[in-house]
Amino acid sequence: MLRVQNIYKEYENKPLLNGISFQVQQGELVCLLGSSGSGKSTMLRIIAGLEEPEAGKVFWNQEDLSEVPTHKRGFGLMFQDYALFPHRSVSENIAFGLRMADVPQGKIKTLVQAALEDIRMTDFADRAVTELSGGEQQRVALARALVPHPRLLMLDEPLGALDHNLRTELIKELRAQLHESQKPVIYVTHDQEEAFALADRLILLHEGLLVQDGSPEELFRNPATAWVASFLGLGNLVPGKAVSEHQFDTEIGSFNLKSTAPLESGQDGFLLLRPGDVLIGAERINSSNHFTAQVRDCVFLGDYFRVEVQAEESKLLIQSPFPLTPGDEVELAWPAEKLLCLPA
Ligand code: ADP
Ligand code: MG
Repeated sequence: MLRVQNIYKEYENKPLLNGISFQVQQGELVCLLGSSGSGKSTMLRIIAGLEEPEAGKVFWNQEDLSEVPTHKRGFGLMFQDYALFPHRSVSENIAFGLRMADVPQGKIKTLVQAALEDIRMTDFADRAVTELSGGEQQRVALARALVPHPRLLMLDEPLGALDHNLRTELIKELRAQLHESQKPVIYVTHDQEEAFALADRLILLHEGLLVQDGSPEELFRNPATAWVASFLGLGNLVPGKAVSEHQFDTEIGSFNLKSTAPLESGQDGFLLLRPGDVLIGAERINSSNHFTAQVRDCVFLGDYFRVEVQAEESKLLIQSPFPLTPGDEVELAWPAEKLLCLPA
Protein backbone atom coordinates (compact mmCIF):
# COMPACT_ATOMS: atom_id res chain seq x y z
CA MET A 1 0.00 0.00 0.00
CA LEU A 2 1.43 3.40 0.95
CA ARG A 3 5.09 3.44 1.93
CA VAL A 4 6.81 6.61 3.07
CA GLN A 5 10.57 6.16 3.10
CA ASN A 6 13.08 8.33 4.88
CA ILE A 7 11.44 11.69 4.15
CA TYR A 8 13.59 14.71 4.87
CA LYS A 9 12.23 18.25 4.60
CA GLU A 10 13.68 21.50 5.87
CA TYR A 11 12.59 25.13 5.95
CA GLU A 12 15.10 27.94 6.41
CA ASN A 13 17.88 25.41 7.07
CA LYS A 14 15.96 23.85 9.94
CA PRO A 15 14.88 20.21 9.54
CA LEU A 16 11.11 19.88 9.93
CA LEU A 17 10.92 16.20 8.95
CA ASN A 18 14.15 14.41 9.70
CA GLY A 19 13.99 10.96 8.11
CA ILE A 20 10.38 9.83 8.49
CA SER A 21 9.36 6.29 7.41
CA PHE A 22 6.07 4.47 7.83
CA GLN A 23 3.53 2.37 5.96
CA VAL A 24 -0.25 2.34 5.73
CA GLN A 25 -2.04 -0.91 4.85
CA GLN A 26 -5.35 -1.47 3.12
CA GLY A 27 -8.33 -0.51 5.28
CA GLU A 28 -6.15 0.89 8.06
CA LEU A 29 -7.03 4.13 9.86
CA VAL A 30 -3.76 5.72 10.90
CA CYS A 31 -3.55 8.93 12.93
CA LEU A 32 -0.55 11.18 12.44
CA LEU A 33 -0.32 12.90 15.78
CA GLY A 34 1.96 15.70 16.98
CA SER A 35 1.94 19.21 18.43
CA SER A 36 1.12 22.16 16.25
CA GLY A 37 4.11 22.90 14.00
CA SER A 38 5.50 19.36 14.09
CA GLY A 39 5.22 18.98 10.30
CA LYS A 40 2.03 16.91 10.00
CA SER A 41 0.45 18.98 7.22
CA THR A 42 3.79 19.13 5.41
CA MET A 43 3.94 15.31 5.56
CA LEU A 44 0.45 15.08 3.99
CA ARG A 45 1.37 17.59 1.28
CA ILE A 46 4.45 15.55 0.44
CA ILE A 47 2.37 12.36 0.18
CA ALA A 48 -0.18 14.20 -1.99
CA GLY A 49 2.60 15.53 -4.23
CA LEU A 50 1.85 19.17 -3.41
CA GLU A 51 5.33 19.57 -1.95
CA GLU A 52 8.68 17.98 -2.72
CA PRO A 53 10.95 16.58 0.00
CA GLU A 54 14.70 17.25 -0.04
CA ALA A 55 15.24 13.52 0.33
CA GLY A 56 13.17 10.36 0.64
CA LYS A 57 10.42 8.80 -1.40
CA VAL A 58 6.74 7.96 -1.38
CA PHE A 59 5.67 4.61 -2.86
CA TRP A 60 2.29 3.14 -3.70
CA ASN A 61 2.88 -0.60 -3.59
CA GLN A 62 6.16 -0.82 -5.55
CA GLU A 63 5.60 2.34 -7.59
CA ASP A 64 7.80 5.35 -6.84
CA LEU A 65 5.53 8.41 -6.97
CA SER A 66 8.31 11.02 -7.29
CA GLU A 67 7.38 11.81 -10.90
CA VAL A 68 3.61 11.32 -10.49
CA PRO A 69 1.70 14.63 -10.26
CA THR A 70 -0.92 15.22 -7.56
CA HIS A 71 -4.02 14.63 -9.70
CA LYS A 72 -2.64 11.31 -10.95
CA ARG A 73 -1.86 9.92 -7.49
CA GLY A 74 -5.48 8.98 -6.76
CA PHE A 75 -5.37 10.33 -3.20
CA GLY A 76 -8.30 12.19 -1.63
CA LEU A 77 -7.82 15.12 0.73
CA MET A 78 -10.16 16.66 3.29
CA PHE A 79 -9.05 19.84 5.00
CA GLN A 80 -9.66 21.69 8.24
CA ASP A 81 -13.27 22.87 8.71
CA TYR A 82 -14.12 20.84 5.59
CA ALA A 83 -13.24 23.75 3.23
CA LEU A 84 -16.62 23.50 1.49
CA PHE A 85 -17.58 26.22 -1.00
CA PRO A 86 -20.15 28.21 0.96
CA HIS A 87 -22.04 29.68 -2.00
CA ARG A 88 -22.50 26.40 -3.77
CA SER A 89 -25.04 23.68 -3.27
CA VAL A 90 -24.44 20.28 -1.76
CA SER A 91 -24.39 18.70 -5.25
CA GLU A 92 -21.97 21.24 -6.65
CA ASN A 93 -19.64 20.73 -3.71
CA ILE A 94 -19.63 16.96 -4.16
CA ALA A 95 -19.10 17.33 -7.92
CA PHE A 96 -16.07 19.58 -7.49
CA GLY A 97 -13.36 16.90 -7.55
CA LEU A 98 -14.97 15.16 -10.52
CA ARG A 99 -15.02 18.40 -12.53
CA MET A 100 -11.35 18.91 -11.71
CA ALA A 101 -10.64 15.42 -13.02
CA ASP A 102 -12.55 16.16 -16.27
CA VAL A 103 -15.14 13.45 -15.71
CA PRO A 104 -17.91 13.78 -18.36
CA GLN A 105 -21.01 15.73 -17.28
CA GLY A 106 -23.40 12.77 -17.49
CA LYS A 107 -21.18 10.57 -15.38
CA ILE A 108 -20.76 13.34 -12.77
CA LYS A 109 -24.53 13.42 -12.34
CA THR A 110 -24.75 9.67 -11.75
CA LEU A 111 -21.82 9.63 -9.31
CA VAL A 112 -23.13 12.62 -7.33
CA GLN A 113 -26.57 11.03 -7.14
CA ALA A 114 -25.06 7.81 -5.78
CA ALA A 115 -22.93 9.75 -3.29
CA LEU A 116 -25.99 11.65 -2.04
CA GLU A 117 -27.81 8.35 -1.51
CA ASP A 118 -24.78 6.93 0.33
CA ILE A 119 -24.85 9.78 2.84
CA ARG A 120 -28.67 9.81 2.92
CA MET A 121 -28.85 13.42 1.73
CA THR A 122 -30.71 13.18 -1.56
CA ASP A 123 -33.27 15.74 -0.35
CA PHE A 124 -30.48 18.22 0.39
CA ALA A 125 -28.97 18.21 -3.11
CA ASP A 126 -29.83 21.83 -3.96
CA ARG A 127 -29.33 23.33 -0.55
CA ALA A 128 -26.47 25.75 0.13
CA VAL A 129 -23.92 24.13 2.42
CA THR A 130 -24.20 27.10 4.79
CA GLU A 131 -27.73 25.90 5.63
CA LEU A 132 -26.46 22.54 6.90
CA SER A 133 -25.64 21.42 10.44
CA GLY A 134 -22.05 20.56 11.36
CA GLY A 135 -22.75 16.84 10.99
CA GLU A 136 -24.32 17.32 7.57
CA GLN A 137 -21.41 19.46 6.39
CA GLN A 138 -19.04 16.71 7.49
CA ARG A 139 -20.96 14.15 5.46
CA VAL A 140 -20.83 16.38 2.37
CA ALA A 141 -17.09 17.04 2.76
CA LEU A 142 -16.41 13.33 3.14
CA ALA A 143 -18.61 12.51 0.15
CA ARG A 144 -16.72 15.09 -1.90
CA ALA A 145 -13.39 13.50 -0.96
CA LEU A 146 -14.65 9.96 -1.61
CA VAL A 147 -16.65 10.39 -4.81
CA PRO A 148 -13.64 10.19 -7.19
CA HIS A 149 -12.85 6.81 -5.51
CA PRO A 150 -9.43 7.71 -4.13
CA ARG A 151 -7.20 4.76 -3.20
CA LEU A 152 -6.08 6.61 -0.08
CA LEU A 153 -7.90 9.25 1.95
CA MET A 154 -6.06 11.93 3.92
CA LEU A 155 -7.77 14.23 6.41
CA ASP A 156 -5.98 17.25 7.86
CA GLU A 157 -7.50 18.26 11.22
CA PRO A 158 -11.03 18.15 9.79
CA LEU A 159 -12.58 18.85 13.18
CA GLY A 160 -10.02 21.51 14.06
CA ALA A 161 -12.16 24.51 14.93
CA LEU A 162 -15.31 22.84 16.22
CA ASP A 163 -16.35 22.96 19.85
CA HIS A 164 -15.72 19.98 22.08
CA ASN A 165 -19.24 18.52 22.33
CA LEU A 166 -19.89 18.65 18.62
CA ARG A 167 -16.48 17.10 17.98
CA THR A 168 -17.13 14.12 20.24
CA GLU A 169 -20.35 13.45 18.33
CA LEU A 170 -18.77 13.88 14.88
CA ILE A 171 -15.76 11.70 15.69
CA LYS A 172 -18.02 8.72 16.32
CA GLU A 173 -19.83 9.24 13.04
CA LEU A 174 -16.58 9.83 11.16
CA ARG A 175 -15.01 6.62 12.47
CA ALA A 176 -18.00 4.61 11.28
CA GLN A 177 -18.00 6.32 7.87
CA LEU A 178 -14.27 5.85 7.38
CA HIS A 179 -14.39 2.18 8.30
CA GLU A 180 -17.36 1.71 6.01
CA SER A 181 -15.40 3.22 3.11
CA GLN A 182 -12.71 0.53 3.66
CA LYS A 183 -10.10 2.94 2.34
CA PRO A 184 -6.72 3.34 3.95
CA VAL A 185 -6.90 6.64 5.85
CA ILE A 186 -4.29 9.02 7.21
CA TYR A 187 -5.89 11.32 9.73
CA VAL A 188 -3.88 14.28 11.01
CA THR A 189 -4.58 15.82 14.39
CA HIS A 190 -2.80 17.47 17.32
CA ASP A 191 -5.51 16.25 19.70
CA GLN A 192 -4.62 12.99 21.42
CA GLU A 193 -8.21 12.36 22.55
CA GLU A 194 -9.41 12.59 18.97
CA ALA A 195 -6.59 10.29 17.84
CA PHE A 196 -7.41 7.66 20.48
CA ALA A 197 -11.11 7.81 19.59
CA LEU A 198 -10.45 7.22 15.88
CA ALA A 199 -7.27 5.40 15.11
CA ASP A 200 -6.33 1.77 14.56
CA ARG A 201 -2.73 2.94 14.70
CA LEU A 202 -0.98 6.07 15.92
CA ILE A 203 2.17 7.65 14.53
CA LEU A 204 3.72 10.29 16.75
CA LEU A 205 5.87 13.10 15.34
CA HIS A 206 8.09 15.18 17.59
CA GLU A 207 11.02 17.46 16.73
CA GLY A 208 11.31 16.09 13.23
CA LEU A 209 11.34 12.45 14.29
CA LEU A 210 8.84 9.64 14.31
CA VAL A 211 8.99 8.86 18.04
CA GLN A 212 6.49 6.00 18.11
CA ASP A 213 4.31 3.95 15.78
CA GLY A 214 1.82 1.49 17.27
CA SER A 215 -1.73 0.70 18.32
CA PRO A 216 -3.39 3.03 20.84
CA GLU A 217 -3.06 0.26 23.42
CA GLU A 218 0.66 -0.23 22.77
CA LEU A 219 1.34 3.48 23.13
CA PHE A 220 -0.74 3.63 26.28
CA ARG A 221 1.01 0.65 27.88
CA ASN A 222 4.51 1.26 26.62
CA PRO A 223 5.21 4.88 25.69
CA ALA A 224 8.63 5.10 24.03
CA THR A 225 9.75 8.31 25.71
CA ALA A 226 8.80 10.72 28.48
CA TRP A 227 7.61 13.13 25.79
CA VAL A 228 5.14 10.51 24.50
CA ALA A 229 3.86 9.85 28.03
CA SER A 230 3.47 13.56 28.65
CA PHE A 231 1.82 14.27 25.28
CA LEU A 232 -0.66 11.44 25.83
CA GLY A 233 -1.30 12.60 29.39
CA LEU A 234 -0.42 9.22 30.90
CA GLY A 235 0.66 10.48 34.30
CA ASN A 236 3.29 12.04 36.52
CA LEU A 237 6.86 12.14 35.27
CA VAL A 238 9.47 12.37 38.00
CA PRO A 239 13.05 13.03 36.87
CA GLY A 240 15.79 10.71 38.10
CA LYS A 241 18.53 8.28 37.19
CA ALA A 242 18.68 4.58 36.37
CA VAL A 243 20.86 2.83 38.94
CA SER A 244 20.52 -0.66 37.48
CA GLU A 245 18.22 -2.55 35.10
CA HIS A 246 15.45 -2.66 37.70
CA GLN A 247 16.15 0.30 39.94
CA PHE A 248 15.47 3.99 39.37
CA ASP A 249 16.37 6.73 41.85
CA THR A 250 14.47 10.01 42.21
CA GLU A 251 14.27 12.80 44.77
CA ILE A 252 11.14 11.17 46.25
CA GLY A 253 12.78 7.78 46.67
CA SER A 254 14.39 4.78 45.07
CA PHE A 255 12.00 2.61 43.05
CA ASN A 256 12.11 -1.05 42.07
CA LEU A 257 10.74 -1.88 38.64
CA LYS A 258 9.57 -5.23 37.25
CA SER A 259 10.17 -4.01 33.69
CA THR A 260 13.69 -3.60 32.33
CA ALA A 261 14.75 0.03 32.19
CA PRO A 262 15.32 1.27 28.61
CA LEU A 263 18.25 3.23 30.04
CA GLU A 264 21.92 2.55 30.73
CA SER A 265 22.92 2.52 34.38
CA GLY A 266 23.72 6.11 35.35
CA GLN A 267 21.56 7.56 32.57
CA ASP A 268 19.03 10.32 33.36
CA GLY A 269 15.36 9.74 32.61
CA PHE A 270 11.86 9.91 34.05
CA LEU A 271 9.74 7.65 36.20
CA LEU A 272 6.11 7.36 35.07
CA LEU A 273 3.71 7.29 38.01
CA ARG A 274 0.18 6.70 36.68
CA PRO A 275 -2.47 8.37 38.87
CA GLY A 276 -4.76 5.32 38.86
CA ASP A 277 -2.08 2.81 39.95
CA VAL A 278 -1.29 4.43 43.29
CA LEU A 279 -1.74 2.65 46.61
CA ILE A 280 -2.78 5.00 49.41
CA GLY A 281 -2.32 4.57 53.18
CA ALA A 282 0.36 2.65 55.05
CA GLU A 283 -1.97 -0.29 55.86
CA ARG A 284 -2.50 -0.99 52.12
CA ILE A 285 1.14 -0.85 51.20
CA ASN A 286 3.44 -3.84 51.32
CA SER A 287 5.81 -2.73 48.60
CA SER A 288 9.14 -1.04 48.97
CA ASN A 289 8.19 1.71 46.53
CA HIS A 290 6.60 4.01 49.05
CA PHE A 291 7.10 7.59 50.17
CA THR A 292 5.35 10.28 52.18
CA ALA A 293 3.55 13.15 50.50
CA GLN A 294 1.44 16.09 51.59
CA VAL A 295 -2.10 16.55 50.28
CA ARG A 296 -2.54 19.88 48.49
CA ASP A 297 -5.96 19.67 46.90
CA CYS A 298 -8.79 17.18 46.49
CA VAL A 299 -11.55 17.38 43.87
CA PHE A 300 -14.52 15.02 43.49
CA LEU A 301 -14.82 13.83 39.88
CA GLY A 302 -17.62 11.29 40.17
CA ASP A 303 -15.74 8.02 39.74
CA TYR A 304 -12.87 9.05 41.99
CA PHE A 305 -11.22 11.97 43.75
CA ARG A 306 -8.45 13.73 41.89
CA VAL A 307 -5.85 14.60 44.49
CA GLU A 308 -2.83 16.82 44.12
CA VAL A 309 0.02 15.93 46.47
CA GLN A 310 3.53 17.21 46.99
CA ALA A 311 6.60 15.12 47.74
CA GLU A 312 9.88 17.06 47.96
CA GLU A 313 9.84 19.34 44.90
CA SER A 314 7.52 17.07 42.92
CA LYS A 315 3.83 17.85 42.52
CA LEU A 316 1.91 14.67 41.67
CA LEU A 317 -1.66 13.92 40.65
CA ILE A 318 -3.25 10.75 41.98
CA GLN A 319 -6.69 9.15 41.90
CA SER A 320 -8.22 8.18 45.22
CA PRO A 321 -11.44 6.23 45.83
CA PHE A 322 -11.93 8.21 49.05
CA PRO A 323 -11.44 11.91 49.89
CA LEU A 324 -8.14 13.13 51.36
CA THR A 325 -7.75 16.24 53.49
CA PRO A 326 -5.51 19.08 52.28
CA GLY A 327 -2.60 19.56 54.67
CA ASP A 328 -2.55 15.89 55.78
CA GLU A 329 0.40 13.63 55.18
CA VAL A 330 -0.25 10.39 53.27
CA GLU A 331 1.80 7.32 52.55
CA LEU A 332 1.81 6.47 48.83
CA ALA A 333 3.23 3.57 46.84
CA TRP A 334 3.28 2.26 43.28
CA PRO A 335 3.54 -1.52 42.70
CA ALA A 336 6.80 -2.53 40.97
CA GLU A 337 4.90 -4.18 38.08
CA LYS A 338 3.09 -0.91 37.30
CA LEU A 339 6.19 1.25 37.01
CA LEU A 340 8.04 2.35 33.90
CA CYS A 341 11.08 4.52 33.52
CA LEU A 342 11.57 6.34 30.25
CA PRO A 343 14.24 8.23 28.35
CA ALA A 344 13.65 11.99 27.99
P1 ADP B 1 1.63 21.03 11.56
O1 ADP B 1 0.66 20.69 10.47
O2 ADP B 1 2.10 19.84 12.33
O3 ADP B 1 1.11 22.08 12.48
P2 ADP B 1 3.18 22.16 9.40
O4 ADP B 1 3.49 21.01 8.51
O5 ADP B 1 2.07 23.04 8.98
O6 ADP B 1 2.96 21.62 10.88
O7 ADP B 1 4.49 23.07 9.45
C1 ADP B 1 5.34 23.14 10.52
C2 ADP B 1 6.27 24.33 10.37
O8 ADP B 1 7.00 24.26 9.15
C3 ADP B 1 5.57 25.66 10.33
O9 ADP B 1 5.36 26.15 11.63
C4 ADP B 1 6.54 26.52 9.56
O10 ADP B 1 7.50 27.04 10.43
C5 ADP B 1 7.21 25.55 8.64
N1 ADP B 1 6.68 25.65 7.27
C6 ADP B 1 5.67 24.91 6.76
N2 ADP B 1 5.46 25.23 5.46
C7 ADP B 1 6.33 26.22 5.17
C8 ADP B 1 6.63 26.98 3.99
N3 ADP B 1 5.95 26.78 2.86
N4 ADP B 1 7.61 27.90 4.08
C9 ADP B 1 8.33 28.07 5.22
N5 ADP B 1 8.10 27.40 6.34
C10 ADP B 1 7.13 26.48 6.33
MG1 MG C 1 -1.29 21.36 10.08
